[in-house]
Amino acid sequence: MTNPEDWRPDQGELLKADLLLYIEPILPVSDEPIVDEVTGKITSAFHLGESNGNKWRGIHACPCGAHSDNTDYILPSGHQTNSLAIHYVALHRAEIPPEQLELIGGFDLEPTEPSEIELQKPKRSRIYYHLPSGIIAPTQDFGQE
Ligand SMILES: [Zn+2]
Repeated sequence: MTNPEDWRPDQGELLKADLLLYIEPILPVSDEPIVDEVTGKITSAFHLGESNGNKWRGIHACPCGAHSDNTDYILPSGHQTNSLAIHYVALHRAEIPPEQLELIGGFDLEPTEPSEIELQKPKRSRIYYHLPSGIIAPTQDFGQE
């Protein structure tokens, strides 16, 4: 599996394989991040995590414009995640499976406040639409950088 487009598993396989937060958001990104205990704990876990050495050929882009780096991380809990983990928990909370939020909330770690860089709050809001094929694409961007 070397094609970055193919490596994300089905949601149903996630907990079985100890994979956390490999989501593909389809709803608009939140305007403001949720920085609570769950976000704090995934941040702490991510800081303690280590790259598993996998190097993907490309980075993964969240539909809102946030980008992952090209490796995966192993958290102290043994779960594998990606560098968009904090972004997903803080800004795509509604789309994270409840059992994953529960699992993260149960991490035995002191919460840490994520940095702006880790949050990857979008610079402007975008609107998304569903193409007939089911592919999600951002609408044209009218904002100013
Ligand atoms: Zn995003």
